[in-house]
This record gives sequence, structure tokens and C-alpha cells, in this order.
Amino acid sequence: MKKIKLVDLRSSYLEVEREFKEGIEKIFEKMQLFLGENVREFEKEFAKYCGIKYFVGVSSGTDALHLALRSINVKEGDEVILPSFTFIATLEAVWMVGAKPVFADIDDTLCISPSSIKDKITEKTKAVIPVHLFGNVCDMDEIYKLKKIYGFYIVEDAAQAHGAEYKGKKVGSLGDVSCFSFYYTKNLGAVGEAGGIGTDDEKIYEELTLLRVHGQVSSYSSIKFGFNARLDEIQALILRLKLKKLDEWNERRRKIANLYKELLKNTPCKFQEIKEGIKHVYHYFVIRVPERDKLFEFLKNNGVEVGIHYPIPCHLQKAAKIYGYKEGDLPITEKVSKEIISLPSHQYLSDEDVEYICDLIKKFFS
Ligand SMILES: *Cc1c(COP(=O)(O)O)cnc(C)c1O
Repeated sequence: MKKIKLVDLRSSYLEVEREFKEGIEKIFEKMQLFLGENVREFEKEFAKYCGIKYFVGVSSGTDALHLALRSINVKEGDEVILPSFTFIATLEAVWMVGAKPVFADIDDTLCISPSSIKDKITEKTKAVIPVHLFGNVCDMDEIYKLKKIYGFYIVEDAAQAHGAEYKGKKVGSLGDVSCFSFYYTKNLGAVGEAGGIGTDDEKIYEELTLLRVHGQVSSYSSIKFGFNARLDEIQALILRLKLKKLDEWNERRRKIANLYKELLKNTPCKFQEIKEGIKHVYHYFVIRVPERDKLFEFLKNNGVEVGIHYPIPCHLQKAAKIYGYKEGDLPITEKVSKEIISLPSHQYLSDEDVEYICDLIKKFFS
């Protein structure tokens, strides 16, 4: 039986293995393991890639979100609007700064719905976190309109959308501050934990560099309290090497997605809606189907590794009970979480792999 993986961690490593090993030798000659040359260069390269002035490497995507909220002084008493249909880390960042999470619903893009954001805005709204889910991009123009009226910060969660574009601009340049994860399964992934934060604002940038290492301006001299959220040299090295291949990899992901859409067009599968002017990067190719759990089992039993992102929306997580949300509060989010299924969409799939998966799906529905 054919076996198809949901993510292929080994193949992307092998593409850069030789240069990576050479770079590792150099790192261990100097033994500067954190915030050295590779981190500095990666920060420059990634800022340039996104079309922004500053980029600060940190230890994970979760830390990126946490420090980003701190850098704009989100604190207890403030409200932050975010989708519930996201990875739990988006919510945890709001919890970490002690602000109140206010969940907005999604729409057929599976990203946060601007009209739902509008319904949730109050005088306490300090920030909105658009999550560019699965590599799609949020409807930014509508969010900008609201920002203009109500004056909140936009904190992008771009953990699943490295290289995605909105009207010619890269994700990471669409808000006041942007957050990336380079966890090893993401489109641009390290070999351990890694993340980063982008901004065009010099003040926010300076704040972030302090928050990242204990508020230090130099060794053992702290002008404020911060955190230990450094990026290490080994992660930065592999990220520099893989960044050179990211556009090519994303292009292949888009081809795979188009093939899926073509082959599945006469089936009950619903696709993620993509607004005009967006270049999607398909972190996952997701479909919405009736009888999701049965299809999940069927594909798994036929050698296709699939995922469910996410089966329990944030507002219904046990951990989030403290915020008092209940079933029925976010109807679309709740419906989608019962229908969604993630199909493999990594750049190492062949057309035959995609055809194999689609044939199985068609067989399931016939
Ligand atoms: C992966 C992810 C994060 C967290 O990143 P880590 O590097 O795992 O801490 C945050 N938000 C979203 C949407 C993610 O997919």
C-alpha cells in the first residue's frame, strides 16, 4: 500500500544538509551559540524578504506572539480580538499578558471575519490578531477600515503563512507587528524551536530586543524585566539556507492545491475561500466535508496521513473555561471544526500522490 505523509521533515533537511553541516562546523569553532552572526544575518534576510525594516529572532512562535503583545503594552484590563479557530498558542499569548481574549467568528476563508470583529470591538479593544490560517491571508482591507475608525493595533499571526501575499505585499508587513513560528513542520521550519517578530516601528523593535533577553542593554545590565526568548545559531543557520528555497517550495504547494481543486471539483468537498489579491501558501490543503471522521479513518486506513486542524476551537478548550465561553457562541467556528480535514500539501508530493488521494476521496463519496 502507498504511504503518504502529512508533512515531510526529512526531505527539506536533505536539500540543505551539506551547507548546514559546514555551517555547524563554523558555529562550533567559535562557540557563539546564541544571537550570533547567523541570527543577525537571518534577521536581515527575513526582514528584506517580508519587505519590513526590522525582524527579531526569538525562541518560538508562541514567544513571538507573547513578546509582540508586550511590545505594544497590551496588559490587564485590555481586550484582544482573535479567532477561536486557531492553534491554542494565539490564545495563550493573550493569557500570558493578562488581557481578556475576545473571540470573533470566522467566514468561508476560515480566517477571522471582519464583520464579526466589528461586533466585538469595545472601548477596551487594544489589539486584533488576524491569523493567516493554513497559508491563506485575512481580509486585511476590511480590518484596516476598522482600525482607522477604532484605532487598535494589528498583530499578525503569520505562523502558517511564510511567503503568502496580500495585494503584492508579503505577510509579515501587513500589521503593526507580525509573528512567525519556524517550528519544524511549518512552511519555513528549523530543526528545533524558533520564531520571530517583524515590525517597521523602531520603538517596537527596540522594546522587542529588550524583552527577548532579560531587558539587557549589555551583559548583566538590565534596564527592565524581560524574558529568555533568544534564537539560537543552529536554528538561524538552517533557516537562512531554507529561506532561499521557500518561494520555490510555496510555488509547488500552490500547484498541488490547484490539482486538488481540479480533481475534487465534483465532490461534496468544500474549499477554503480565497479573497482577491491573495497568494496562498497552503501550509495545509484543507477541505470541509460531511462525515469528516469517517473520511479521516478511511484515508488513514489507506495509507494517507491526514490531520484535523482544529477539532476543538480555542473558546471550548477546557483551559479556556476561565473566560466563560460556551457552545453556541461562535456558530461558524464550531461547525467548521466538525467538518475540517487537512490533506498533505507539502512540496515533495508528486502529482500521482495527489491523484491517489483524490481517487480515494471520490471512492469514499461514491
Ligand atoms: C505553530 C503556531 C503557533 C505557535 O508557534 P510555536 O513555534 O509552535 O510556538 C502560533 N500560531 C499558529 C497559528 C501556529 O500555527
